Amino acid sequence: MKLPIVVIMAVLAPPAVLAQPPGLPPAIRAAAEGLSAEQIAWDLAYLASDELRGRNTPSPGFDAAADYLASRLERAGLKPGGDQGTFRQHYELHETRIDTDAAAIEIAGRRFAFGRGFAMRSLASPISAELPVVYVGHGWVIPGRKIDPYAGVDVRGKLVLAHGPRALPRGVEVQQIGRVAIDAETPFVAAAARGAAGVLFITQASELVRWDEIKGQNTVRRELEPNVPSAYAALPITSVLLAPPVTTALLEGEAVTGPTALRVAEQGEFPATFELRKRVRVHLPVSARSVYRPYNVVAILEGSDPTLKDEAVTVFAHLDGAVGSREIAGDAIYNSADDNASGSAATLAIAEQMAAAPRPKRSVVFVWDSGEEQGLWGTRWFVHSPPVPLARVVAHVNVDMIGASRRPGSADTASPLVTERNEVFLIGPRTLSTQAMVLLDRVNESYLKLRFNRQYDTPDSEFFYPRTDAGPFLERGILTIGFTTGIHNRYHLPADEARTLDPAQVHAIARTVLASVWMLGDAAERPGIDQPLPRTVPRHP
Ligand SMILES: [Zn+2]
Repeated sequence: MKLPIVVIMAVLAPPAVLAQPPGLPPAIRAAAEGLSAEQIAWDLAYLASDELRGRNTPSPGFDAAADYLASRLERAGLKPGGDQGTFRQHYELHETRIDTDAAAIEIAGRRFAFGRGFAMRSLASPISAELPVVYVGHGWVIPGRKIDPYAGVDVRGKLVLAHGPRALPRGVEVQQIGRVAIDAETPFVAAAARGAAGVLFITQASELVRWDEIKGQNTVRRELEPNVPSAYAALPITSVLLAPPVTTALLEGEAVTGPTALRVAEQGEFPATFELRKRVRVHLPVSARSVYRPYNVVAILEGSDPTLKDEAVTVFAHLDGAVGSREIAGDAIYNSADDNASGSAATLAIAEQMAAAPRPKRSVVFVWDSGEEQGLWGTRWFVHSPPVPLARVVAHVNVDMIGASRRPGSADTASPLVTERNEVFLIGPRTLSTQAMVLLDRVNESYLKLRFNRQYDTPDSEFFYPRTDAGPFLERGILTIGFTTGIHNRYHLPADEARTLDPAQVHAIARTVLASVWMLGDAAERPGIDQPLPRTVPRHP
């Protein structure tokens, strides 16, 4: 009997896992070396210029930045990956504003106005109804500790009255990473899951001192339509923070009085759940609704292999900045240079350079996403409608804030959260994929030998999850690899300007990202997640 030749070869070939991944091919090294530090610095300076005003989503400055990218991508010969043959991938953003002049809560004939009486904590939908109220203490559900203040009561269609929103029982800790509570349901999630109409929070003393700031917040909801599930989606239920006089009026004549409730809560001991005798009229009407159509900039570099080109590596840099309204030291422009003109300019240069070089087997999808700072809008939309099916995205590379270094004389010399020059925080591979880690280390050893700092590459780091564009990908089981130089004292402030950054640092990381992306795209075996997904990452379909 003759065995087919392919079977014999498969038997004789060593297991792939033992194979040393190849080093960087000379042509790819040359392409990476072709990246111009000056060009990246000019692009960064333009994207972070006062003229573009921080590239808020949506804004004329963002449009100007996107036009700048699109014309360059077209000239470089990249394929548009957006709508109808363009580089723009639009999504719909719905904005709802609460009419704060008309908003009121009525308790036993007394009317409390917005601002003095209560503030918004979250806005899911308007409420205008007289409703029963169920007091649920801290309002958290923690199955591991058998804590469930909703057990045995029906809160469907009713208002939930809780302390907080972060008033935990004494001695109980909940690990929370950003908005994600590990092995617990926050009052927002718990109340929404049980069909409550809204949440009234008895505001904690620690929050009352910030009332002037608090009362101006959360009066506007902006969210994708249709919504795309993610830890950073808008909160699922409308909630308000009650000022003490409202709490007192609400609990007057009830099983627990306002002053008692406030006192025991500060001690971390909560009265048992009960339904109030009185109903409450909550009037939170909408004053205006608007629809916006922001977009991501998407460009595709088709792979060279007839089969593997159907798979892709995505490279993301959010193009938007976190634009605040407060003027600081005479500066009102939030240039968002490091966060993230640095990653945007580097990714543009990488796309241009890769388009002119030999292509990897798999395709590469370059995305300059929008709304990252306000709710990961662009990335959530991308995973909802990707130009390549998500199952064929082998890795997501995130380039976010790569311009700072602790070089001597810089603003960051003494900053413990910023990397040295030629050092970068690498986030994802150690936790998710041995295969990817080995590949990236090998590329790096055969090229620039940057110091890969893996301190944030742990499941409980907020930089691992969910603070970045990695979140929506990880939630869908896709390997993520993040490059960043860390957080500095200009983060999200008008002082995040191009002149504070280190062009040599951006250049070194851009070259390393290019080499890494090329090798991920060309790897014989798909470098997917080969470790268990940490429980800090909730799964979304
Ligand atoms: Zn960022």
